[in-house]
Amino acid sequence: MFILKGIAQLENAIAKAKKLRPRVEFDHFGRYRVSGSKGYYTVICKKSDNNYKTVSCTCKGAEKGLVCYHAAAALSLHIGLARQQQTA
Ligand SMILES: [Zn+2]
Repeated sequence: MFILKGIAQLENAIAKAKKLRPRVEFDHFGRYRVSGSKGYYTVICKKSDNNYKTVSCTCKGAEKGLVCYHAAAALSLHIGLARQQQTA
């Protein structure tokens, strides 16, 4: 799990996601399934009680606190959906 502080920390992961083009499946708002090298990983995006945005993924990299490309791929969908909700 990591705390999302800004888009800059996602740059490398986004670049990797663009290259690998994982499949992102919408489960429900804040929860996505992203294809990876060993099947699907679950990415959960949420706001913690103290208003931090946290992102967790079930892959090995994210377990160590790394920003993985699964999270980046899911976040690009999540941010788009969150914007739609705000403007709805
Ligand atoms: Zn991951």
